[in-house]
Amino acid sequence: MIDTDTMTYVSAVNVAIASGNLPATVLRTDTCPECQTQLDADGGYDDHLITFVNGRLIVVIGCEGYWVIDPNAVGIASPTWMSLETQAAMFNG
Ligand SMILES: [Zn+2]
Repeated sequence: MIDTDTMTYVSAVNVAIASGNLPATVLRTDTCPECQTQLDADGGYDDHLITFVNGRLIVVIGCEGYWVIDPNAVGIASPTWMSLETQAAMFNG
């Protein structure tokens, strides 16, 4: 189910986190923006991809496949990537 692009994204995110150079602003949330579930370390996130940064749970990929962390911030040029806020603004005019 995870394709090559997604694998590249996940590994770039891991490298960026390990480097400590990732801006805090892109480590966005412990809540999946697609199902609005707040994920926790006890489980319940089977369809989500998460990571931990300094003990804080961060959603990397939502349950519908959305890349929560801006791929451009981890070195993957993705001119079509939009934050959920941007998408919402477009759809709401
Ligand atoms: Zn979800």
